[in-house]
Amino acid sequence: MNIAVASGKGGTGKTTVSVSLALFLAGEGRAVSVIDCDVEEPNVNLFLGATIGRTDEFSVLVPSVDNAACNGCGKCEQLCAYSAIVLIKDKPLVMPDLCHSCGGCELVCPERAITEAAKRTGIIETGEAGGIAFAGGRLDIGEHMSPPLIKAVKHYACRSDIRIIDCPPGTSCPVVESARGCDFLVLVTEPTPFGLNDLRLAVEMARALGLPHGVVINRAGSGDSGVDDYCAESGVSVIARIPYDRRIAEEYSRGDCASRIIATYGNEFSAMMKRITETTRKGARI
Ligand code: SF4
Ligand code: SF4
Repeated sequence: MNIAVASGKGGTGKTTVSVSLALFLAGEGRAVSVIDCDVEEPNVNLFLGATIGRTDEFSVLVPSVDNAACNGCGKCEQLCAYSAIVLIKDKPLVMPDLCHSCGGCELVCPERAITEAAKRTGIIETGEAGGIAFAGGRLDIGEHMSPPLIKAVKHYACRSDIRIIDCPPGTSCPVVESARGCDFLVLVTEPTPFGLNDLRLAVEMARALGLPHGVVINRAGSGDSGVDDYCAESGVSVIARIPYDRRIAEEYSRGDCASRIIATYGNEFSAMMKRITETTRKGARI
């Protein structure tokens, strides 16, 4: 089972929920892994503390042009939907940062002047912490094309019964790539107007992707009732509430809030997993 954990905005406690859920499941004797798909700002392992056993470089393919073979026909420029290859004085100029590695320009080149070259964009780390398998992507500084790295890291740590996929914040392409194909999407929010605004967007995304989803309200009791009202009106289930608790904030600052959360609110995670399991078993959306 692949459970993606996302939030419409950063700072809601998404990663805290991901790691806490993994600890809870490991405590129940399940084979579990956590995949950090927040490749621009990976922080799962700050809380998980996995020992990294392996680091793989990750590269994408970008075009490389042999100017001597090029006849300046411009077919590559016409094809590229991302303006990643343009003609300057009848010679193609490739902008690797804009390239989506579709390979189209190589296919249309009549002179076979284009070949593909590997360009490193990040790394993938794998390890283990207390029986929990970990895999995390890390985009290189200056790189911004995160979906290919996210897609790759999702192929790691596949042997577990349950994989927790920690998504980037927001609702843009990296989140869609992270959540795509998952069995259930957990949407973490907070009871504030900002939390509500971004939760609406996240629910729209989940519905557009056809993903079963439910809401976890973090710091419950500290804000207003807007999130609860919205969930009730729009038929979105609240599958867990983690109360506002100063002790969690204190443990968070030391990087160890997950064990405190499980010790104090383990029943919330137990109920959440029951809801998720029932939903995915039925193939229904909640
Ligand atoms: S590989 Fe695709 S995206 Fe990249 S330059 Fe060629 S056509 Fe454009
Ligand atoms: S399609 Fe090939 S031959 Fe035509 S401009 Fe591009 S690289 Fe040159």
